[in-house]
Amino acid sequence: MDTLASQLDRMSVPGDLYEKLQGGDVRCHACAHRCLIHAGRRGICQVRYNRAGVLMVPWGYVASLQSDPIEKKPFYHFLPGEDALTFGMLGCDFHCGYCQNWVTSQALQDEASNMAGNYIRAIDAETLIAFGRRMGASIVASSYNEPLITTEWAHHIFTHARAAGMKCVYVSNGFATPETLDYLAPVLDGYKVDLKSMQESVYRQLGGKLQPVLDTIRATHDRGLWVEVVTLIVPELNDSVDELMAAARFIASVSAEIPWHVTAFHGDYRMQDRENTSREMLLRAAEIGQEAGLQHVYAGNLPGHVEGYEQTRCPHCQTTLIGRQGFHVTSYKLLPGGHCPECGQIVAGVWADNSESVKVDQGENFRMRRPRFL
Ligand code: SF4
Repeated sequence: MDTLASQLDRMSVPGDLYEKLQGGDVRCHACAHRCLIHAGRRGICQVRYNRAGVLMVPWGYVASLQSDPIEKKPFYHFLPGEDALTFGMLGCDFHCGYCQNWVTSQALQDEASNMAGNYIRAIDAETLIAFGRRMGASIVASSYNEPLITTEWAHHIFTHARAAGMKCVYVSNGFATPETLDYLAPVLDGYKVDLKSMQESVYRQLGGKLQPVLDTIRATHDRGLWVEVVTLIVPELNDSVDELMAAARFIASVSAEIPWHVTAFHGDYRMQDRENTSREMLLRAAEIGQEAGLQHVYAGNLPGHVEGYEQTRCPHCQTTLIGRQGFHVTSYKLLPGGHCPECGQIVAGVWADNSESVKVDQGENFRMRRPRFL
């Protein structure tokens, strides 16, 4: 019988991010689990495996491919108004009970995800990039499942994307290693990290550890990548004032210019036992970010109901520079180079060279920026 595992194994090639050990064992360095994998066995993510002393890694397919607003990733300080060709694959190195993409992320870990095999589509990098250009995307994003576990394939795609003049971003849980970041940095422009909690016990529950994620936030920033951090506010899991303040203070210790997105949880997958995040709770989390000294705090998943927390303001004179509602950019006043037109302050981010070219959704021209499937 052609199982999902055998289907995926056929779409694998020898990897780069590992070392050979004695006796046919290998150690994978793609994520911070650093799995020791005996011959014939799989790593924790299940999609990387040891074939006769060689680490085989996913290659040559996507399980999801669509053109999304960059604001959906979310990146708010990275080419606002642009679209990102976003690809996902199968598998994850975590097993978060509230995952919204569990059908693809939990492939080979949860039998209920076996249907994910139907989503696999063989593709090469050239075709994928051509799709993106045809859709008008100027960015390529690796997202939906955890991109770290398929880093070699992402590196290959990003190399082609860069050659086509596109920018490249990771949307990741941040459970990386320095080796993976060094490998990716030459072809990567932006990194969104999920900071899921400041409690080690919560990370254990989700299948990871806290310190490597904190290290990734600092390391990606130090490597000159554009970094944004997201914390999904889950009631009874990570919503205490002390914990949110600790998260915000940590981000501020790396740089007060890093945008922090606090986003609203709703029940999904195996976590349907609690209330959704209330508007009040979300706004309180955003206030905590400001109290900790962060210059740019955004509240997500409740578009139009978060007071000013969807807008980008000048950190010096407080002028509203970028208006948003959900994924829509409704106004854009930044000058080239990220200068505030009122006071000249430079706002940190990756901005359009020509402000006139930024796509603004307004009035009768309000354009529903929806994900577009390919
Ligand atoms: S990417 Fe997979 S195999 Fe490699 S260390 Fe992480 S979980 Fe283990």
